[in-house]
Amino acid sequence: MRASKLFAPTLREVPAEAEVVSHQLMLRAGMLRKAAGGIYNYLPLTWRVLKKIEAIVREEMDEAGGQELLMPIIQPAELWQETGRWDVYGDEMFRLQDRHGRNFCLGPTHEEMITTLVRSEVRSYRQLPLMLYQIQNKYRDEIRPRFGLMRGREFIMKDLYSFDRDEAGLEVSYRKMYDAYTRIFNRCGLKFRAVEADGGAIGGTGTHEFMVIAESGEAAIVFCPDCEYAANVEKAEGQVLPSNTEPSSQDLTPVATPGKRSIEEVTAFLKVPAEQTIKSIAFRTEHGLVVALARGDHEINDVKVQNLVGAIQIELADEADIQRELGSVAGFLGPVGLAGKCTIVADSSVMNLHDAVCGANKPDEHLLHVEPLRDFKPDQIADLRMVKAGEPCPRCGSALATARGIEVGQVFKLFTKYSEALKATFLDENGKEKPMVMGCYGIGVSRTMAAAIEQHNDADGIIWPAAIAPFQVAVVPINTKDEAQLQLAERIYGELKAAGVDVLLDDRNERPGVKFKDADLIGYPVRIALGPKALAEGMVEIKCRRDGQVLLVPQTEYLQKVQELLAGL
Ligand code: ATP
Ligand code: MG
Repeated sequence: MRASKLFAPTLREVPAEAEVVSHQLMLRAGMLRKAAGGIYNYLPLTWRVLKKIEAIVREEMDEAGGQELLMPIIQPAELWQETGRWDVYGDEMFRLQDRHGRNFCLGPTHEEMITTLVRSEVRSYRQLPLMLYQIQNKYRDEIRPRFGLMRGREFIMKDLYSFDRDEAGLEVSYRKMYDAYTRIFNRCGLKFRAVEADGGAIGGTGTHEFMVIAESGEAAIVFCPDCEYAANVEKAEGQVLPSNTEPSSQDLTPVATPGKRSIEEVTAFLKVPAEQTIKSIAFRTEHGLVVALARGDHEINDVKVQNLVGAIQIELADEADIQRELGSVAGFLGPVGLAGKCTIVADSSVMNLHDAVCGANKPDEHLLHVEPLRDFKPDQIADLRMVKAGEPCPRCGSALATARGIEVGQVFKLFTKYSEALKATFLDENGKEKPMVMGCYGIGVSRTMAAAIEQHNDADGIIWPAAIAPFQVAVVPINTKDEAQLQLAERIYGELKAAGVDVLLDDRNERPGVKFKDADLIGYPVRIALGPKALAEGMVEIKCRRDGQVLLVPQTEYLQKVQELLAGL
C-alpha cells in the first residue's frame, strides 16, 4: 500500500467528543468516523486490524473444533418469545417490524437462533458434540454508548455455541474454549487475566471473563499475585471477618445524631470506628424492598444481593420508598424494627459484630449497643460485600491486589437453560430423550482492537503489537524528490512485500516531520527511514516504535533485522 493512496484522514487536534485514549487515537489516526452514537464507519486502517484479529480468532476456533457458519442478524420475535427473553431483554434490544406488522429484532446475541437451528437438525447422541460459531455484527441499544469501539451499539462479535450430551462433555468444550481464548489474546499481544465472573442464577464456576488490564477498564478485578485466583469484584469471595469488640450487655440506646447521615459523619460524631457500625442500604426489586446490611467499612455488592434474592431487576430505593414502605428515613435506616416490612439480608461479617451502631429509622437518630440476633434477625445471611485490595486470597492467603480491566471475552456454561426452554433434545445411547448441554463463548472483536490501543500507546500515538498492526512496517523516503531515495524505497518496499511483510510505502510529498508524526500516531511497529546521509553510507535507519530504539543497518541486512524485530513485537 502507498500512503499517497491510503484513505486515512489524520487529525492534529484531539477531538473533544472522545473521552478515552483509544477513541481519541482512532479518530486522530484517521481510522474511525462516527455515523451516530455508538455506530461507526471503520476506515481502511481499522478494517485491516479487525480482519487480522478475526483471522487469529478464526484459526483458534477452527483448531479447537469449531465450525464457522453465519446466522441472520434479523431475528423473528417468536424465537425470543419461546424463551421469554422478548420481554426480559428490555430497551437494549433494537426492535423492528416488517410490512405485515410482524416483530423482529436485530440480534444482540444468538442463543435462541442457534438452539432452534440445532434442535431441528440434531436427533442422536452420535451427532454430538457440536461447536458452531460466527463472526458478525451485534446490536445492543446500550444506555450509554461511549468510548468509541469499547461500547458501541453496533459491534463485531465472535460467538460460539457448544452442544454436548452431558455435563462432562460441556466441561471438555468449556476447557477447549478457555484455552483457545488464552491463545487468542496472547497472539494479539495483550496483557490479560481470565477472571471468575458472576454467572447470575447459574453461578458456581460457570463463567470466566477475559479482561485486558488497562486503567480505563470499566470492570474492577481482584487477583492474587501468588496464585491463579482472579475474579471480577462482582464475584470475588469476601471472607467472614471476626469482631474486635465484646458483646454488650447494655440495652439498645437511641442517640441524637443531627444531620449525620453518612458513615463518615456518624463515626466522626460518635467517635466509633467504621467497622463497628452497620450500613443499611434499601433496594427496590420485583419482589419488593430488600434492605442489605454490611459493616460500615465495607461496600455492599448489589450483584450478590440480586443473586441471593433471585431478582431480575434491582435498583436503589428512593427516599419516598423508604418513608412509605419502611416508615424510615434515608440516611437513618437501620435493621431494628424492620422485620415484616421488607426482606433483610446481611453480609456474614455483620453477624460477628458486637456493641454496634446503626440508624434508628427516625430523623437525626442512631442506636448504640446493637447486638445482631438479639436486636434484629436477617432473613438471609451470605457473602454480600465487595472485596478490597490487601484482603487475604481465598485460595492461598496472600494479599489480594486490584486492577481495572476491559472485558474482551467471556466463556459461559449455559447447561440446559436454552435447550429446555426451546426443547432442543437428542436421543442418548439407550434411546432416552435428553436436553442438550450447552455453552456459549463470546469475543468482542472490535472491543479487542480498542483494548489493544488502551494498553499500548504513548504521547505520540498507538504502539501496535505486530500481529494486529494495520501495517507492520512503514518505509519512509525522507525526500521523495530525490530519485536515489525513491528508487531504494521502492526496492525495499517490493522486497518486503515479496517476503510476506505487511508494508506501507510513504511516498507522499510531505515534510519528513509530517511523515514521522503520522507513522508514530498510526503506530506501525517498525519504521524504515531512507535519508541522504544513510544512503551515502549504504545504510538504512530502522526505528522500533515500542522502545524508540533507532538502528543503522547496512542495506544488505535490513530484511533479516526487520524480521527479527517483528518476531519480538
Ligand atoms: P458488558 O458487560 O461490557 O456490557 P456483556 O457481558 O454484556 O458486556 P457479552 O454478552 O458477554 O457482553 O458479549 C461478549 C463480548 O462482546 C464481551 O465480552 C465484549 O467483549 C463484547 N461486547 C459486549 N457488548 C459490547 C458493546 N456494546 N460494544 C463492544 N463490544 C461489546
Ligand atoms: Mg460478558
